[in-house]
Amino acid sequence: RPEEVIPGLLAGCSAPLVLTMAEVTSEETRVEGAVERAVGALGGRLARVWGHTLYHLDDLQGPSGPYNGATGIRAIGDVFTPFKDKCEQKVQVRKEVPTPTAGALPLPSRTAPTTLTPAGGKAPAGAGAELGALLDRPLPGWQELPWPQGAQVAPPTQHPNAVLPFKGGESVALARLKYYLWDKDLLAAYFDTRNGMLGGDYSTKFAPWMALGCLSPRTIYWAIKKYEAERVANKSTYWVIFELTWRDFYRFFAIKHGNRIFFETGCSGKALRWSPDQAAFFKAWREGRTGMPLVDANMRELAATGFMSNRGRQNVASHLVLDLGVDWRRGADWFEHCLLDYDVTSNWGNWVAAAGLTSGRLNLFNITKQSKDYDQQGEYIRTWVPELARVPAEHIHEPWLMSRDNQAKYGV
Ligand SMILES: Cc1cc2nc3c(=O)[nH]c(=O)nc-3n(C[C@H](O)[C@H](O)[C@H](O)COP(=O)(O)OP(=O)(O)OC[C@H]3O[C@@H](n4cnc5c(N)ncnc54)[C@H](O)[C@@H]3O)c2cc1C
Repeated sequence: RPEEVIPGLLAGCSAPLVLTMAEVTSEETRVEGAVERAVGALGGRLARVWGHTLYHLDDLQGPSGPYNGATGIRAIGDVFTPFKDKCEQKVQVRKEVPTPTAGALPLPSRTAPTTLTPAGGKAPAGAGAELGALLDRPLPGWQELPWPQGAQVAPPTQHPNAVLPFKGGESVALARLKYYLWDKDLLAAYFDTRNGMLGGDYSTKFAPWMALGCLSPRTIYWAIKKYEAERVANKSTYWVIFELTWRDFYRFFAIKHGNRIFFETGCSGKALRWSPDQAAFFKAWREGRTGMPLVDANMRELAATGFMSNRGRQNVASHLVLDLGVDWRRGADWFEHCLLDYDVTSNWGNWVAAAGLTSGRLNLFNITKQSKDYDQQGEYIRTWVPELARVPAEHIHEPWLMSRDNQAKYGV
């Protein structure tokens, strides 16, 4: 509850200014409002800064922006391409804000008393402990988190098949950016590798750091521009920027549609009919037990590691909603629970679109064909579905078509 913790941090500060990146969806803006009231009660102010997107909202709906009419960005359509074209033709990506030098920001006084209870629940040493001392402390480790009484907790472990370790923080994010662009030149081949599913290198993996505010899309953009000037500019370098524009699209789309991105009938208001067996189908999907090897492999990866490739996400979403007839919100909710890169507008926007509940294009995926196209040798499936580990490539995408003899031979 930020509205409870933040006032504790501010106790003793006069007229505090609290900065936050502006949110657009209802739960998040409710939290902002609660913090604003709590900070206001201390004589302070909450200032919202626009920051999540590549293109700045003010540039899109300002006097020379493509959405400068009375409804501003709400005039955005449900189709991506016109939005992307308008951005590319009419809007400049702003430069990054320079990193403040030491002492440049008016941080809270280091001697202000605080009511904050530090990690571990122990009271600060002595009366009126200093905020500065708390700021200097390292972040609490997993053992120090406020676990429920009697909870059996174990240290977080790294799954051996995880695409990356995904350590948090800006330094690791910038190291990943450097690795992807400058050390390995992976950016130059992104267009051809982006549909992969195995390993760290087939796509940028920037999403978790962006979702948690460790890496800005503008930082990525300007790094790509430098790379294009110094190494190579090609379809791949352009395509990462194209994908970042998709991310923007869903954030602005959420401003337009408000809570409809969470409704059963989505943005189009169209009622879909769900299967009477949807509860059982959803459980099988979530646990990676549908019997469709590509879907099961992806769902197991998600549950075990918190990540799934974009190719996987498109397929499992299509399968859940359009083949199994399960309410799309169950899938979106499960993704919200699992994804390291969970981002409210990217997640719910992609899901509502996958369900065909916008006026944009609907993609119905042929899962078996996708499996053959994107996992030709079945390597990805074998990584996550050990039941099929001995099945050769010719049968692995449709194991149900194998003869009984072959099933016995390959241990299915
Ligand atoms: C059903 C579904 C749910 C999704 N949920 C999320 C989510 O919660 N958070 C999230 O960040 N992305 C989400 N995505 C989009 C996309 O799958 C991930 O951003 C991408 O797989 C993350 O891996 P990456 O960083 O290696 O991506 P890359 O392929 O390297 O792409 C570069 C960046 O472009 C952006 N991007 C790429 N594709 C999309 C897209 N379709 N929509 C929005 N942004 C995109 C991401 O910021 C990504 O980091 C979802 C897609 C689907 C189909």
